[in-house]
Amino acid sequence: MNAVPDVPQIALMGLDASEVSALVSRVGEPAYRAQQILDAVYRQRLDSIGEITTLPQPLRASLNQKRVVVGMPAIERKFVSLDGTVRYLIGFPDGQSVETVWMPEGDGGEAGDGSEAGDATEEAAKNWDRATICVSSQVGCAVDCQFCLTAQLGVKRNLTAGEIVGQVCAVLKDQKVSPPQDRINLVFMGMGEPFLNYDNFMKAVLLLVQEVGIAESRMTVSTAGIVPRIHDFGLEQIRPKLAISLNASNDAQREKLMPLNRKWDLEKLLAAARDFPLRNRERITFEYVLLHGVNDSVGDAENVVELLRGLKAKVNLIALNPGPGIEFSTPGEGQVHAFQQVLMRAGIPAFVRRPRGRDIYAACGQLKRTVEIATAPVR
Ligand code: SAH
Repeated sequence: MNAVPDVPQIALMGLDASEVSALVSRVGEPAYRAQQILDAVYRQRLDSIGEITTLPQPLRASLNQKRVVVGMPAIERKFVSLDGTVRYLIGFPDGQSVETVWMPEGDGGEAGDGSEAGDATEEAAKNWDRATICVSSQVGCAVDCQFCLTAQLGVKRNLTAGEIVGQVCAVLKDQKVSPPQDRINLVFMGMGEPFLNYDNFMKAVLLLVQEVGIAESRMTVSTAGIVPRIHDFGLEQIRPKLAISLNASNDAQREKLMPLNRKWDLEKLLAAARDFPLRNRERITFEYVLLHGVNDSVGDAENVVELLRGLKAKVNLIALNPGPGIEFSTPGEGQVHAFQQVLMRAGIPAFVRRPRGRDIYAACGQLKRTVEIATAPVR
């Protein structure tokens, strides 16, 4: 290669319309080139400058020479589940990687609309009428939830906005689908804590809405409970729906499971939720991972009812997805059902999330860049 190694690459993926316009005018090109570039990156999802045939050849050569690249991340590995879920290992130029999960059909819980959550259709992938992509926001995670495999990695670094959007573009390209014709939902529930990478996450949201063409109403972000950012998020003009990982029914319990509860306890967390400006018909989703004998009793469910009193809420119940080094076990179906019944009888919509891709380590809390899935338990 004859590229000059010490000149850093400039990735187009992650630049917004004004940044692309600035680049175009810097190289002395007419303004309409900006739209051609945005189309090529975000809508055609091309891999290289050379493929952008809407641009004249001399301009492509000059962009190459200036080390401008598209910045589409590489799909390094792909694991396909029996239920149609696909777990992608997506790599970046510095050698870091994250996981992104494709779920044909979604299950309503992930889609965030709740309407069909938990309906136990066992149909495999082919004739999906909507799909959900679960997107990562950081390499690893710093929050250290005791039941989550991603926590075992620690946090390596934040993803850039381009790397967050890039995951979506890489998966759309691989699946040969295009929003808005294809109904695509996004959940920011992969590796990492989106609200600890807030600015890059929000920039990625804007690009996904404005350039990739996925409506914000089709997006849900989940936070472990970074209280100040919940407040900031409420002020955003364009934002996904909000989900909060509750996971416990009292402070003592939550502190053991999620150490961040020492900083932002249930009182602070639920105060932020109560202050959160909801739109018409919007609800906050609370996720609750059920751990056998730890937080799954009827008494716990009754406490949750009290905690959520007065909130426009719905609850997604997730029976623990097991993994190596996780010291908890999965409750039985009866226990999950009893917990759900307590919430429902109190008028709180509660859905049991069907695990997706457990056989390939793609389910909630299982994203740890596991490559040796032949040795993983198939459940
Ligand atoms: N960091 C953010 C985004 C990740 S969302 C957050 O915590 O909300 C991932 C969801 O999976 C969270 O609700 C989390 O509580 C849940 N989860 C983590 N580990 C799990 C496991 N082993 N089984 C089931 N759900 C799990």
